[in-house]
Amino acid sequence: MSRAEARIDLEAFAHNLTVLRAAAPHSQQMAVVKADAYGHGLLPMARAAREAGAEWLGAALFSEALELRAEGDSGPLLAWLAAPEDPWGEVLEAGIDVGVSTPDHLERVAATGQRARLHLKLDTGLGRAGCPPSNWESFVSRAKALQHAGRAEIVGIWSHFTVADDPRNPLNTVQIERFHAGVEQAAALGVQPEHLHLANSAATLSLPDAHFTLVRPGIAMYGVSPGVAMGTPQELGLRPVMTLIGRFTTVKRLPAGSGLSYGHQYTLPADATVGVVPLGYADGIPRNATNVGPVFAAGRRRVIAGRVCMDQFMLDLGDDPALEGDEVVLFGSGDEEVPLAEDWAQATGTIGYEIVTRLGPRVPRVYVGEDR
Ligand SMILES: *Cc1c(COP(=O)(O)O)cnc(C)c1O
Repeated sequence: MSRAEARIDLEAFAHNLTVLRAAAPHSQQMAVVKADAYGHGLLPMARAAREAGAEWLGAALFSEALELRAEGDSGPLLAWLAAPEDPWGEVLEAGIDVGVSTPDHLERVAATGQRARLHLKLDTGLGRAGCPPSNWESFVSRAKALQHAGRAEIVGIWSHFTVADDPRNPLNTVQIERFHAGVEQAAALGVQPEHLHLANSAATLSLPDAHFTLVRPGIAMYGVSPGVAMGTPQELGLRPVMTLIGRFTTVKRLPAGSGLSYGHQYTLPADATVGVVPLGYADGIPRNATNVGPVFAAGRRRVIAGRVCMDQFMLDLGDDPALEGDEVVLFGSGDEEVPLAEDWAQATGTIGYEIVTRLGPRVPRVYVGEDR
């Protein structure tokens, strides 16, 4: 092993997909692998998701979906984040379903001359992508005209939640009601697609009324909780997939009173062994983990001592024995004293999603647990 690695446990990933399947047994599953599979590596995770039985893959960017096709994935695949210059023709030719939200998206589809598989997105309250309810009928009518002309097949109607990680929030019910209303309006126009989909991870785990024909879990597949109110991964029956490990590059004794790292924001209270871990903000370690980021090192849980640098951070190991090359676990299983990605999120004021997704390309991903 080199200076650092992210160990990706494919067995844990398959387990999490099984848990999600059990939570929504009557729906197909779209494994969301956007953003390099939330930092876990697009292609290996896509392959593992298919092997675990995911009928669909979900990508945000057209480029992510095209990469999957280039690597030979030929199953149902949806991409939903189109930028103005994106190659619609190429995407449709590759047999990628597209999520569409605006009349302009439909014009782009029409302009390709290709036959498109469309998922019409309704904005039920997130205020991000999606057609607002006020324009929904005319949007659906335009899509229907394309379908009638043989230029499109309307495969799905879909939307996305705002607060599904807070399952008791009444906005969830409002969004489900608005979704039903949009589906009924489309049906009245003669549009009754095969798929209706609304649920992200949180809704897959806790809002059965939102399951419809297809669920779109992302974060929970990676064994990270969708939110504090949902519980820990363990409480949700999930196993963390990523373990982030660094190895001490330098271990040395320093006298009491020595300052550590830029700005000396940590001072050794006693003579101590200091360990240098070769991971920093260039790798996606939050700089605001300074003096608070949790790690498991030299036999117990500790926090980072002093500022996180671009490539490194330090630990005060006291009198505990440590050697250069020893492993330091930043986050992983949550077992014993090993922190979770959620612990990092809490320490640095963000969410578990960001902790795993921001891990930079310098850190090799190493896949384990393949032989199921
Ligand atoms: C990211 C995303 C998902 C997956 O959400 P999780 O909270 O990670 O489960 C599903 N649908 C859409 C549209 C998304 O952007």
